[in-house]
Amino acid sequence: MKTFAQLNLIEPLLRAVSARNYETTTPIQAETIPPLLAGRDVLGCAQTGTGKTAAFALPILQHITERPSLSKRPYIRALVLAPTRELAAQIGSSFEAYSQFLKTRQTVIFGGVRASSQIQALKRGVDVLIATPGRLLDLQGQGFVDLNQVEFFVLDEADRMLDMGFINDIRRIIELLPERRQNLLFSATMPQSIAKLADSVLDQPFRFQVAPQESVIREIQQEVMFVQQSDKRHLLIQIIRQGQIGQAIVFMRTKHRANRLAQQLNRAKINATAIHGNKSQAARERALLSFRKGQTQILVATDIAARGLDIDGVSHIFNFDLPNETESYVHRIGRTGRAGRSGIAIAFCAPEEYDYLKSIEEMMGIQIPTSKTDQGWDRQPPATMEDKEDKPVTEKRVEPKPFSAQQGPKPEQGPKPGRNRGRRKSTRFQRKGPLASKAAKSQLQFTTG
Ligand code: AMP
Repeated sequence: MKTFAQLNLIEPLLRAVSARNYETTTPIQAETIPPLLAGRDVLGCAQTGTGKTAAFALPILQHITERPSLSKRPYIRALVLAPTRELAAQIGSSFEAYSQFLKTRQTVIFGGVRASSQIQALKRGVDVLIATPGRLLDLQGQGFVDLNQVEFFVLDEADRMLDMGFINDIRRIIELLPERRQNLLFSATMPQSIAKLADSVLDQPFRFQVAPQESVIREIQQEVMFVQQSDKRHLLIQIIRQGQIGQAIVFMRTKHRANRLAQQLNRAKINATAIHGNKSQAARERALLSFRKGQTQILVATDIAARGLDIDGVSHIFNFDLPNETESYVHRIGRTGRAGRSGIAIAFCAPEEYDYLKSIEEMMGIQIPTSKTDQGWDRQPPATMEDKEDKPVTEKRVEPKPFSAQQGPKPEQGPKPGRNRGRRKSTRFQRKGPLASKAAKSQLQFTTG
């Protein structure tokens, strides 16, 4: 494990990372900072939670500080593109923290809010511009953004950018950049479309890959509970009422379902707020602020709204709806266990979601242990999701016993009939990642509890 001092970073940056209490580098930092300081392009297959923001922010800030400037007034020397407002804002605050002992200036621009304060900041001059593609093109079109002198171009969460339909915007932005520049592209996944984009943007890049399960850094204890779809809300309320949950993010498949669940939780006297793409930027910021301050206990979120959220106090993640994209599962559970804390991720699996669970387990190369308090559905899962969509389940439903605090852990039983998962009973999955502790190994660890 390397220290930041071993990476030849300048003293104000070393001071800034130690002010954030970073003791050692994460693997992506140790591997990519040296080639970035040497001026190389980098292709990083890594997601939020791996420490990638510092991996690109520190060398960029160092270059900007050390290389001569063309004018006294700051001008845009680094451009960071991010897919969502939340991620852009988070990258902005990281740059602010890492540059606190430097003179560099940065600003963040994104849509959904009035542009006037963003325009004012651009007029004052910035060295680093962090932007979502739409607002960037908008303000560039109005003449407030000059990208002619950009020396560093970062494309963050490139896969999500393409998923969100930003490819043409990205191409237009690249055309506005000077030929000679250093390029960095980060993506959680590397499908063909990203490989093609990387080929067109990067010049003989240094490549670094964090394996999917390695990006679930620190300690996240995962569990699955088998529950009928119609019983999920009741189960969630029961668990929250047991009082073991500090703050939790509950993931839903749709905005509508997120809104409805937040209302239902409120009616059950649980302080919950929904956050999703249909809310105004101001409403999203209010919800996040109240959650960060601990005034809201439960954030009910959709994937896009919660992507990249970096909130330290999240003790639990609930996958109320299992995601049909396995990558989303990793992103979701990575919202807990931040900043070296441990976290618990609980997946609610309805019979019709069983195939999703299987693909998640396959991708992660583990079996997610069944919760000790699982009451379980008790029937053969459908063969495919299509089965379920074509015809409603007609088998006799076995009422799950109500989940209750008094019951305590269920006594050990034989394998649950019909589930046929061959899983290890009470096996805890623990991932100790680079940020966990000095002694932590970056491997999956199984301990029997
Ligand atoms: P990122 O992947 O950049 O979103 O970083 C994820 C989280 O890890 C953030 O809360 C960072 O502040 C934190 N972090 C980044 N690098 C380190 C490090 N070397 N040691 C401890 N925490 C870190």
